Amino acid sequence: MAAAPTLSYSGFRAYAECPLRWKFLYVDRLREKPRSFFSFGRSVHAALERFVAPLVVEGGLPGKGPGGQRTLRDFSGPQTDPSVAQTPMDLSGLLGIYREEWVSEGYTSAQEEESYFDLGVDLLTRFHSVYVKEAPRPVAVEKDLRAELEGVPIHGIVDRLDRTEGGGLEVLDYKTSKELSLKDAQLSDQLTLYQVLVEQNYGRPVESLTLYHLRSLSALRTPRRPPEAIQDLGIRLGEVSDGIRSGHYEPRVGSWCRWCDFRSLCPEFKEVPAGSRERIVTLVDRYAELLSERRQARQEMEAIEEEMEGLALGLGVHRFRGSRLSLHRQARRSWHFPPEATLPLLRAHELEVRAGGGDPDRTAALLRDPEVPARLRRLLAGQGKLELRYTWEPEGSDPH
Ligand code: SF4
Repeated sequence: MAAAPTLSYSGFRAYAECPLRWKFLYVDRLREKPRSFFSFGRSVHAALERFVAPLVVEGGLPGKGPGGQRTLRDFSGPQTDPSVAQTPMDLSGLLGIYREEWVSEGYTSAQEEESYFDLGVDLLTRFHSVYVKEAPRPVAVEKDLRAELEGVPIHGIVDRLDRTEGGGLEVLDYKTSKELSLKDAQLSDQLTLYQVLVEQNYGRPVESLTLYHLRSLSALRTPRRPPEAIQDLGIRLGEVSDGIRSGHYEPRVGSWCRWCDFRSLCPEFKEVPAGSRERIVTLVDRYAELLSERRQARQEMEAIEEEMEGLALGLGVHRFRGSRLSLHRQARRSWHFPPEATLPLLRAHELEVRAGGGDPDRTAALLRDPEVPARLRRLLAGQGKLELRYTWEPEGSDPH
C-alpha cells in the first residue's frame, strides 16, 4: 500500500462523501468551477487575515520550546503581555484591504457580484466595531499546522487562535455562510481536527472551539472536545486514509452530487454511448425477464414445499421420488439466543468477541467447545432455544 496521505479537513470530507470526487480533485487535479460563495468567502477571509495579523500578540507562536512545542510558560497571562494594547487599523484601512483582496470570479452577473461586495462591506464594518470594542488577543492567524492523529498525518489552516481571559486558547473558524447554528459548531469535525492540530503544536489544551458566523457576528462557542470525540474522528480519518492508500475510488451518490462539477465524468451519471445502447437494452431486457421468472419460480417452489410438507406429515414419508430426482425431507436444527440473557454471560467470561457479539451460529459453536466450562455451556443452552425446521433437499441426478 502507498504511504498514508496527509489529510486536511476538506480532503477528509471530500473522500468520506465520495471517493471518486476526491480522486478527481486530489489525484487527477481537476479544477472545480469558481463559485460566488467561495470567492466571497476567500475575499472576506483574506481581508480579515491582513486586518488581524498585525495584532497577533507575541509569545504565541509554536515551535520554540523543547520538541517544537510551547510550554505553559510561553503563554504568560494577558496582563503581562505588552502587545495586547496594539491598536487595530481603522475601518477605512480594513475596507481598503477588502477591495484589494476581492476575488471577482464565479459570479453570475455584475449585479450579483456587487450585492456580495456590499454584503462584505456591511459585515466587515460591523465586525470592525465589535473587534475594536472587545479587543481580543489573537496569538495566530491563518496558521498552517501539521500533526498526526491515530497514525494519520493531518494538516489545517486555522483562521484565528485567541488567548482567552483565563490564558487558555480558543480556536476560531470564520464562516460567511447564510445560516449557522450552535449545533453546527458542536458537530463540526473541522473544529475537532483543529483542536488536535493546535494542542499538538502548542503543547497545551484548547479551551474552546468557535465557529464565528460573520453575517450575524455570532461566536458559536463550544467547549473543547472530549477524548471520545477525538478518538471517533481518528477512526474515521483512518478509514479514509486506508481507502486512499488502497486506491479505492468508488463513486458514492448523495446530496453532494448536486454540486459536483464532475458529473459528466462520473459513471453514476454518464450516458451510455450510442454505439453500445442496442446491445445493452437487449441484455437488460433479458435480465428483467429472468428476474421475473426467478420470482415466479420461487413462489411456485414455496407452494410445492407447503403441499409436500402436508403430505409428508400425513403419510409419514420423508422421501418423495419423481422421474428425474428424489427429494428428501431433512431436519435442520438452529439455535436462537436472546441477546439480553446471553450477552451478559458471554461478557462475564470474555467470550463476547468469540461469539461474534451474540451471533447464533458462533454462540452455538461454544456449546460444543470442550474448552468452554461445562457450567457455562449449560447456562447458555438453558437461555437458548433449539428450533427444528425441515427443508427438501434434492437427491439423485442433477436437478439443473
Ligand atoms: S456526481 Fe456524485 S457520485 Fe459522481 S463523482 Fe460527483 S459526487 Fe461522486
